[in-house]
Amino acid sequence: MTSIETAERYFHLAADVMDLSSNMRRLMLTPLRQVKVQIAMHRDNGEIGTYIGYRIQHDKARGPMKGGLRYHPEVNGEEVLSLAQLMTWKTAVVNLPYGGAKGGISVDPSTLSEGEMERITRKFVDEIHDVIGPDKDIPAPDMGTGAQHMAWIANQYEKYHGFSPACVTGKPVELHGADGRVEATGRGVAIVTEAALRELRREVKGVTVAVQGFGNVGSYAALILHEMGARVVAVSDAFGGIQNPEGLDIPALMEYMKETRKVEGFPGSDACKNEDILAAEVDVLIPAAIGGVLTGENAPHVRAQLIIEAANSPVTPEADEIFEQKGILVIPDILANAGGVTVSYFEWVQNQQYFRWDIDKVRVELAKRMAEGFGKVFQIAAEKKVSPRVAAYVLGIGRVGRAIALGGI
Ligand code: GLU
Repeated sequence: MTSIETAERYFHLAADVMDLSSNMRRLMLTPLRQVKVQIAMHRDNGEIGTYIGYRIQHDKARGPMKGGLRYHPEVNGEEVLSLAQLMTWKTAVVNLPYGGAKGGISVDPSTLSEGEMERITRKFVDEIHDVIGPDKDIPAPDMGTGAQHMAWIANQYEKYHGFSPACVTGKPVELHGADGRVEATGRGVAIVTEAALRELRREVKGVTVAVQGFGNVGSYAALILHEMGARVVAVSDAFGGIQNPEGLDIPALMEYMKETRKVEGFPGSDACKNEDILAAEVDVLIPAAIGGVLTGENAPHVRAQLIIEAANSPVTPEADEIFEQKGILVIPDILANAGGVTVSYFEWVQNQQYFRWDIDKVRVELAKRMAEGFGKVFQIAAEKKVSPRVAAYVLGIGRVGRAIALGGI
């Protein structure tokens, strides 16, 4: 099943529960605008490199469109469209005044020098600056991009439009970024993990956790859960995994990663494979890397009681059905990883007001938004007797649908 088929399958499951008309379904699934551009630049070796960039704007019924930019070799129009759709439902689930968008460049960032990375990013802005902006569509980091990319985007955008720090979020703190944005997605994941465990009448203290993917999201989710008293016993990255049944020292692992860029060889751990992480004997499994990792094939081997979708679309519909049959609780991406876009919203608000919040305020407001979203999703799940995923879509689609109905077309 392709990424867009997956996204639409989940949409229709909820639309059926809501009895949504076929006209509304078509309207809500059709993206507003799809931009595909050529990005040409001089490589360091004097050759010309040509790449394809995308910005897909899915829906703006609830406000300016919002979503990250992904630099990855597998970026393509269909994947970006499915991720843009997810952003529309995600911003609605946590009740941010935004629509949804996503973008990216089909490129392997590890093949680019720092200078090439800057040139490709600025060139991309040259091609899309007229369709983005603080009140139109606000990009942010995603896989393969971070604060430095956002600083280049703001700088390039401002060459055309003048001072506008709110044109992009996830910027460096020294350049109008928000304190707490880097940890935000991981912190949101930890908050919903605690709330989901409460539903299972368990506490975070002492639960065992496996994290697949130790990038920005996975590492901060592991760190904050570790601080809350959980035992993170296995983690993996693109190169391999490590485990220690007594619990890994996550702060030390994060220090270690700064030097090595890999989890492999961390003192006091044993090596293991990526599949071992997914099938680890733990209470909580957190897929925090790419989409489509839990499939109909490996889902029967999962032993966790709770799965938190820290990545976007890590559970395929086939796997989702298996988890439902086995009674494994899955907290869907559009709720579980909404912490990132929530703090992006706080950054945008601060930029618009020329006012800086302190980290405590960011954390308190994030926890409030996540708890509200979680509470609503579980209320709908109980009322309609559906899974949290279907409930989250019902919430998101319902809010977007009401905005469309009120505003008119
Ligand atoms: N890329 C992140 C996501 O998938 C964050 C988007 C944002 O901050 O706008 O939710």
